Amino acid sequence: MSTKTPDALKQITYLAGALKAPRITDAATRLADQARDAGWSFEDYLAAVLEREVSARNASGSELRVKAAGFSARKTLEDFDWDAQPAIRPQVAALASGGFLTEARNVVMLGPPGTGKTHLATALGIVAARHGHRVLFATATDWATRLSDAHRQGRLPQELAKLRRYGLIIVDEVGYLPFEQDAANLFFQLVSSRYEHASLILTSNLPFSGWGEVFGDQAVAAAMIDRIVHHADVLTLKGASYRLRGRGIDSLPSTRTQHGAD
Ligand code: ADP
Ligand code: MG
Repeated sequence: MSTKTPDALKQITYLAGALKAPRITDAATRLADQARDAGWSFEDYLAAVLEREVSARNASGSELRVKAAGFSARKTLEDFDWDAQPAIRPQVAALASGGFLTEARNVVMLGPPGTGKTHLATALGIVAARHGHRVLFATATDWATRLSDAHRQGRLPQELAKLRRYGLIIVDEVGYLPFEQDAANLFFQLVSSRYEHASLILTSNLPFSGWGEVFGDQAVAAAMIDRIVHHADVLTLKGASYRLRGRGIDSLPSTRTQHGAD
C-alpha cells in the first residue's frame, strides 16, 4: 500500500533504531496508511505515532515492574470474587485508583487464612506497577532475613535508602512466625524509614492485639503499629477460607482461636 516511499521508510527504520524505539517503524507504516485514507494532518499523524510508542513503553515498563516485584502468584482485582468479601469492596475500589501511593499511605489487611489477603495485596501491587511505581513483595520472614543480612554486613542504612526508592513494599504474612528480637527492631526501622514517605501493604492473620507477641516486645509493636496506622486503610477480611469452599469445611481450627475475640 505505502510502497510510494521506500526510501523514507528505510530512513525511518534507521532513525527509529538510533532512537532505541524500533517499534516506531511499524507504527509509522501502519498509521501512514490510515492517515492517508482518513486525511489526517501531519501533526495528527506524528501525534498518533508518538502516542503508540509511549503507550507501548508504559505497558512494557509496567510488565517489567510486575515481574521484578517477586509476587508469589499473579492475582488481579478482576479475578477477585467480591461475593466472598462484599464489605471491603468500596475500600478496595478506592485504593485501586492508586492515590494511596502518591500520598504514601499504607494498607493493612487483617483476616483468617484463605480469605484473600495475599490475593488483594498482590492485586494492589500490580495496580501500583501499572501506575509507574516500583514494587517489592515478600513475606515478613523473608524481609526479616533480608534486613538482618544487610545489618550484619553493615549496610542497613544503604539498604533502607534503596528500599525507599520503591513506591510500594508488601510485607505478607506478618504473624505466621514470631520475629527474633533483632529482626523486630530491624523491621521497626523499615517501617520508620518509610513513614510518610512511601507506602507499605501488610497482611496478617492476627489482629493488632496479637502483634506484640509476634515482635516479642509490646513497646516495639505499639510504636510500629502507631506509625503504620497513622495514615492507613485497614481492611478486615472475614469468613471461611476460599481455598476450602465447597469442601464441607467451615473454618480452620486456628481461625477460631485467633479471631474469636475480634
Ligand atoms: P490469605 O492470604 O488470606 O491466606 P489468599 O489470598 O492466599 O489468602 O487466598 C487463597 C487462595 O484463594 C488464592 O488462590 C486466592 O487467589 C483465592 N481467593 C481467596 N479469596 C478469593 C476471592 N474472594 N476471589 C477469588 N479468589 C480468592
Ligand atoms: Mg496469604
